[in-house]
Amino acid sequence: MSRKILIAGNWKMNKTATEAVELAKPIIEAIGNQNDIDVLMCPPFTSISAVSELIGNSTVRVGAQNMSDKASGAYTGEISAAMLRDLQVSYVILGHSERRSYYGETDAFINRKVLACLENNLKPVLCVGETLEEREAGKVEEVIKTQLVGGLANVPADKAESVVIAYEPVWAIGTGKTATPEQAQEVHAFIRKELIGLLGQVGNAIRILYGGSMKPANADELLAKPDIDGGLIGGAALVAKDFLALIESGVKAQANKI
Ligand code: PEP
Repeated sequence: MSRKILIAGNWKMNKTATEAVELAKPIIEAIGNQNDIDVLMCPPFTSISAVSELIGNSTVRVGAQNMSDKASGAYTGEISAAMLRDLQVSYVILGHSERRSYYGETDAFINRKVLACLENNLKPVLCVGETLEEREAGKVEEVIKTQLVGGLANVPADKAESVVIAYEPVWAIGTGKTATPEQAQEVHAFIRKELIGLLGQVGNAIRILYGGSMKPANADELLAKPDIDGGLIGGAALVAKDFLALIESGVKAQANKI
């Protein structure tokens, strides 16, 4: 099955709206309306509007890094799915390990956001991944399975294809340590098997991104693996030339996968 590669930038809490425009502009101009792969930029909430306005006819998509599980109302400081859709957002990163560890997000809470996303025709990018301690204790599959079962509970079959999974080993995020392509493929294949078990054959169509110190120097090897369908990129997404190089790697990998 051929899945369309997705190269996604997670800017985290970086870039003011003014700086976001400086970063996004050359990327959007260079990508234009190429359609070989999907390209996504996820700026902070405060820069989404400015980046969306730059998109024009480009095929680049804008995403958010979090979202409320509630539709509207007295939830001070929260941002709803409808608010994001109104700013041309099409994907939302959910359950990133930084949100799980610093803000106590649980699988049940993340699941409510995944369902709210799908109800509003937004594509959730559900992040899963083990800590170094869990890997060393031989618990990788147990941890990932729990995160998938919890995060994807009650996902309707007709919306499942919109789901994107990002496998992000916590020990590889922002550390410069990357999972080897073999280590990553092994977990991606496990995730694929679990997705098929949970959701049926649509699991073959769901994209599984790798995240964790992906950069131009290691992207080709990672993206060549059969179950690695793209990347969720932190640090390297903040440098236009690096992000463009990763997009080029994605286009090359896509051509080889067809
Ligand atoms: C991330 O946080 O999603 C990430 C993968 O970060 P980095 O690329 O910097 O490791």
